[in-house]
Amino acid sequence: MPQSSSVNSQDLLSNLDGPDPVDLETGLPLIVCQSCKDVRLIALTSTRQNSCGKRFFKCPRNKEKDPTSCRSYYFQADYETLLRGIGKIGLPRETTPARTQSLHSLAQTRTPDASLPEQIDDIRKKIIELSGRVSTLSTQGSLTTVLISCILTMVFLVASIVAILAALVYFVVANK
Ligand SMILES: [Zn+2]
Repeated sequence: MPQSSSVNSQDLLSNLDGPDPVDLETGLPLIVCQSCKDVRLIALTSTRQNSCGKRFFKCPRNKEKDPTSCRSYYFQADYETLLRGIGKIGLPRETTPARTQSLHSLAQTRTPDASLPEQIDDIRKKIIELSGRVSTLSTQGSLTTVLISCILTMVFLVASIVAILAALVYFVVANK
């Protein structure tokens, strides 16, 4: 398990019954430990080489080298699955902030209203582009149909010629 640094300034034993405090980095609620039931999970950022920068969530009682300590420990993806399972969050959010994002850039991405007209414009462009592609595709489709019918006609003609030749050869041989 990764080692941790930068402990969130969450008061571990604060208002268990109140609304869940939110981890500022991921926007995920910090729920009460599912095993202990009397303490909230904490969010930490891994400093381990193989998972450096990854956000993870664990019970403050979880001790890395103590298997008898609380086992509540989740990386972000697993934690989101757990939260969804117990109805703490809805369906996967479209804009999950990247784990490496700083709070500053997070604040910037959290103001989508200002760029809404731009987004709509973007979508409109994409639709125009798509419809262009669709018309290209249908022209290609009709071209393919013409080609296939040409080939079929050729095959039919060749088959007829072969049949006529075979009949002629048969008559010549039979008349000898
Ligand atoms: Zn626990």
